[in-house]
Amino acid sequence: METAEIRRRWLAYFEGKGHTVVPSAPLLYDDPNLLFVNAGMVPFKPYFLGQETAPYKRATSVQKCVRTGDIEEVGKTTRHGTFFQMNGNFSFGDYFKKKAIRYAWEFVTGRQEDGFLGFDPDKVWVTVLGPGYHPDYPEGDKEAYDHWIAVGVPAERIQGRSLKDNYWHMGVEGPGGPCSEIYIDRGPEYGADGGPEADEDRFLEIWNLVFQTEEITDVKAKDDFRVVGPLPAKNIDTGMGLERVAFLLQGVDNLYEIDEVYPVIERAEQISGRRYGANDGDDVRFRVVADHVRSSLMLIGDGVTPGNEGRGYVLRRLLRRAVRSMRLLGVTTPALPALLPVSMEQMSRSYPELKRDFSRISQIAYAEEEAFRRTLTSGTTILDSAVSQAKSSGARVLGGDKAFQLHDTYGFPIDLTLEMAAEQGLSVDEEGFRRLMGEQRARAKADAQAKKQGHGDASAYRELADALGHAVEFTGYDEVRSEA
Ligand code: ATP
Ligand code: MG
Ligand code: MG
Ligand code: MG
Repeated sequence: METAEIRRRWLAYFEGKGHTVVPSAPLLYDDPNLLFVNAGMVPFKPYFLGQETAPYKRATSVQKCVRTGDIEEVGKTTRHGTFFQMNGNFSFGDYFKKKAIRYAWEFVTGRQEDGFLGFDPDKVWVTVLGPGYHPDYPEGDKEAYDHWIAVGVPAERIQGRSLKDNYWHMGVEGPGGPCSEIYIDRGPEYGADGGPEADEDRFLEIWNLVFQTEEITDVKAKDDFRVVGPLPAKNIDTGMGLERVAFLLQGVDNLYEIDEVYPVIERAEQISGRRYGANDGDDVRFRVVADHVRSSLMLIGDGVTPGNEGRGYVLRRLLRRAVRSMRLLGVTTPALPALLPVSMEQMSRSYPELKRDFSRISQIAYAEEEAFRRTLTSGTTILDSAVSQAKSSGARVLGGDKAFQLHDTYGFPIDLTLEMAAEQGLSVDEEGFRRLMGEQRARAKADAQAKKQGHGDASAYRELADALGHAVEFTGYDEVRSEA
């Protein structure tokens, strides 16, 4: 089933159940706490908090999302895109757990001939908040549990999990609540038995039903926050990963191989002369390229331009990682002019404005690739002279200080240095490199502590990142992550 068809079925189903279809908000939503929209509920936040009255009781959408915190997962797991689309249905003080669970069950397991997704009910697992994790739910979320039993899910396929998995919030202050998730068992060839609690690769999370009932603050982690009090109403907020459902229904192995994404991998194969599926290292690079090219397209489409701070820095990083991955696939000529139009052709089926704006979008992307190529050229000159120095002194190893300098001054990620040194027959003193990185990090930490600065917004994160000489991300969702 094509991704576009899943999207169509989603909206038709919930429209048929009295939901107003609301178009996706832009990725740059005006929320001071977030870099990008990271969930379908973001545009509806004021309704949940009771700050504004919703003009409808029920809504449905397919929301564009970016989660920068997932960047490290891309290509390595089967299921994380930096850009993805979240199907959502929402109730603002209208229906609650019972109906939300009934709708979900019908849409997931109803027959494809009748307009549903047609998953085998025996492959569906669900999770609810387990006992002992939240003072209001000493026995866990019994109510959700009972509704799942009522629709026919056997007790052995319902798992109780902790706040980490079964409480949802935005990663910052705002609405929150216990949640219940739907997983599809991909089969024993993908991992061991034991349900989602045991293996989230075999048991793929497709849909999260959030029971938005509390206002929370002081959010430090998924399971570390303070409850302010109940929201004015009991609300429903769900999010289904469109690409995840597409990858299951298209019979492919991961979300980078779906109809909207895979053509970029094919084009990358053509220009690199390498084959996707030949070895694991290259496969990750192909997937990173396809994901990052698409995310960059969508971000520039929504008005982001590359820069050194906040949103612009995220875009810069995505574009550079895409170009670098192509470089590691052996492509030294400009790559984006070959790849970006392919992604645009796919995505413009759902977002026709991308076609209209493509000359602006592509100019921004291609200019960034050119700038990065110049950086690479200067870095390569430094690397080459270091390599010939090392060789003439008979060393087979490039010093950690050189790798550090390339990282610090020229933004060379360590894997690029490793690859380029290897091409010239040298290894790299990685331990020395890591020691220097560690020292720099410790210095920056001490500085930051001395400053005792809050990190409530993206610019503060960027400052920290600059100080650390490596990327620190405000994910607006997960905790702050850093990457060497
Ligand atoms: P995971 O545990 O797999 O990282 P999550 O629990 O962080 O997912 P939720 O916050 O519950 O995800 O988001 C709702 C739904 O959005 C998920 O059930 C999933 O289908 C989809 N989703 C979340 N993150 C991504 C992503 N990075 N790429 C694609 N789909 C995603
Ligand atoms: Mg996640
Ligand atoms: Mg999860
Ligand atoms: Mg989830």
